[in-house]
Amino acid sequence: MPTETRTTCPYCGVGCGVIAKVEDDGRVSVKGDPDHPANFGRLCSKGSALAETLDMEGRVLAPMVHGKPVSWDNALDLVAERFSSAIRDHGPDSVAFYLSGQLLTEDYYVANKLMKGFIGSANIDTNSRLCMASSVAGHKRAFGSDTVPGTYEDLELADLVVLVGSNMAWCHPVLYQRLSAAKANRPHMKVVVIDPRRTATCDIADLHLAVRGNADVALFNGLLHHLAQEGHVDEAYVAQHTTGFTEALMACQHTSLSELAEVTGVSTLQLRLFFQWFANTRKVVTCYSQGVNQSSVGTNKVNAIINCHLATGRIGKPGSGPFSLTGQPNAMGGREVGGLSNMLAAHMDIANDADRDRVQRFWASPIMAQKPGLKAVELFEAVAAGKIKALWIMSTNPVVSMPNADFVKAAIEACPFVVVSDMYGSTDTARLAHVLLPSAGWGEKSGTVTNSERRISRQRPFLAAPAEARADWWQMAQVGCRMGFGAGFAYQNASEIFQEHAALSAFENDGSRDFDIGAHAALERQKYDALEPFQWPQPAGSKPDETRFFANGRFYHPDGRARFVAVPANLDHRPSAEFPLILNTGRIRDQWHTMTRTGRSARLSSHMAEPFAEISPSDTRQFDLEDADLVELTGTTGARCVVRALITDRQAPGSVFVPMHWNDSNSARARVDSLVSNERDPISGQPALKNAALTMQKF
Ligand code: SF4
Repeated sequence: MPTETRTTCPYCGVGCGVIAKVEDDGRVSVKGDPDHPANFGRLCSKGSALAETLDMEGRVLAPMVHGKPVSWDNALDLVAERFSSAIRDHGPDSVAFYLSGQLLTEDYYVANKLMKGFIGSANIDTNSRLCMASSVAGHKRAFGSDTVPGTYEDLELADLVVLVGSNMAWCHPVLYQRLSAAKANRPHMKVVVIDPRRTATCDIADLHLAVRGNADVALFNGLLHHLAQEGHVDEAYVAQHTTGFTEALMACQHTSLSELAEVTGVSTLQLRLFFQWFANTRKVVTCYSQGVNQSSVGTNKVNAIINCHLATGRIGKPGSGPFSLTGQPNAMGGREVGGLSNMLAAHMDIANDADRDRVQRFWASPIMAQKPGLKAVELFEAVAAGKIKALWIMSTNPVVSMPNADFVKAAIEACPFVVVSDMYGSTDTARLAHVLLPSAGWGEKSGTVTNSERRISRQRPFLAAPAEARADWWQMAQVGCRMGFGAGFAYQNASEIFQEHAALSAFENDGSRDFDIGAHAALERQKYDALEPFQWPQPAGSKPDETRFFANGRFYHPDGRARFVAVPANLDHRPSAEFPLILNTGRIRDQWHTMTRTGRSARLSSHMAEPFAEISPSDTRQFDLEDADLVELTGTTGARCVVRALITDRQAPGSVFVPMHWNDSNSARARVDSLVSNERDPISGQPALKNAALTMQKF
């Protein structure tokens, strides 16, 4: 009899429910889960091709040490011994974990517990740093907590949806489908896209503001100024629930509309229209994604947006609020367990003495990290400097995806001991491992993920993991036991980890912390297996009345008020003679990250078969280029890559777009992130993967 399993898509932060069917002959098919509240049965091209990516080619089937298969015992003993000896000889900060927003929450929880509570270092960061760290930092500054206030339904209820730095049509396709359907049903709904490129998302836009890279702060400061000047500030809300309005307004006082047009590259006509729509529409949702976060001023961009929502009291209400869209399937789950180097578990703060003490008592841990650890870019800089003696990389491919990727590759090559846990042994990063551990993949592992609207859903197994492949949490727990921390890591299954995670979220939580899923602290395995998707918070006892945060106007700063943040509108990059162009990196519709899975589907690969650079027609003469020429791109790092020129008026003059997916495994010299420098946002540590300086020539 064919069996059907309800699970969750492993790609983007929309978090769609999937029904996987295994036929008697072993063939797998997938369809959207009609009962999942994220997608109601819809899937995008990537989700619907999931079954095509389940082949075994290239899978790691046994632990490997220096390329030779060994037993799990031998591999785990070696990892534990090398990490222990590094800590003994050089201290806890001489080791590091680099994780992934692809991991399940249970994997993330165990890794974070091992590093922060038992090794005693916070050198654990993740590719989620590349995805949404600026949103985390912006939320914490404004709300006193890393809280996404709204829900997907708010996009359908809004009368104006503003999409900033978000190509939702390609990067969050099912949410885009929901938005398009809502707009078709309610034709008065308006959509504004703020993006330097004219992307596929502009197909439903009533207004496209082709803003210059990083001019978003100036744009939203201009909007705040307009709201104040034209009497659209909700004075009662601002007085009762916020502080810092005057200072934030001061930061935008000197901007006239014509000056703003000059700075942003958007006409005064378009600016005026956008400002009027925002000012005169009660229900406004502003969604922001990587065009906001992946910037040297990303945190300021987030706060400039939130400022406008606080000023109008448009937050925590149906159809209103700022809304951060996470790129990855479980960036949110990672945040919940403290999987970033500057966070602690259950949305507690590593810099807070009481929080560290609370977590240490809960874990009964021998030693706690006392300070934030290295953020992703710093972490690989420390590896390059020889300060990290043992590094464990899990479910991610930083040799392709990190900025300054050649530097990262050289750093990993020089590291004395590198462990990589992955499904595949052929990735650019896995090839550098001293110890390669075979991980179970989607369809084989069990756990939970959290999507962009705080909805926790189960990923359930429907296939046996091949040969020796094991869950990532199991690998970490086994090493923890072998390092002498057995009592803290004696988990038998993922449900025990989830229970502990839920119990920690409720531990000494009197409502002063946003993340509370205490209702699941005693969830037995059977109930965990049957767990329906739910939105947090879900504290023990009664369910909260609201699915939105801040409906009552109370925030998580000690005085209960939100903070306006005064943000300067500096543009960080201006073209130079040597590097006259601006490089924008991003995703395409049918590929995911570094293509280790989506690259296996011929159907997905046929959408765009080779790496390319989108170039404005107005730049062709200066660089002597024609459509389909090969073009060599050079970044300030000195790295070069060669891709196909795609001449299109979607691209603004002076800027070039290159997808981030291709790598040395499938296309020579196409790792575009090698062109991007180590520059990052000083507050969030998120690298500036957009807006890098670039030059190019015909190849
Ligand atoms: Fe998967 Fe995202 Fe597509 Fe949904 S929208 S099917 S979560 S890739």
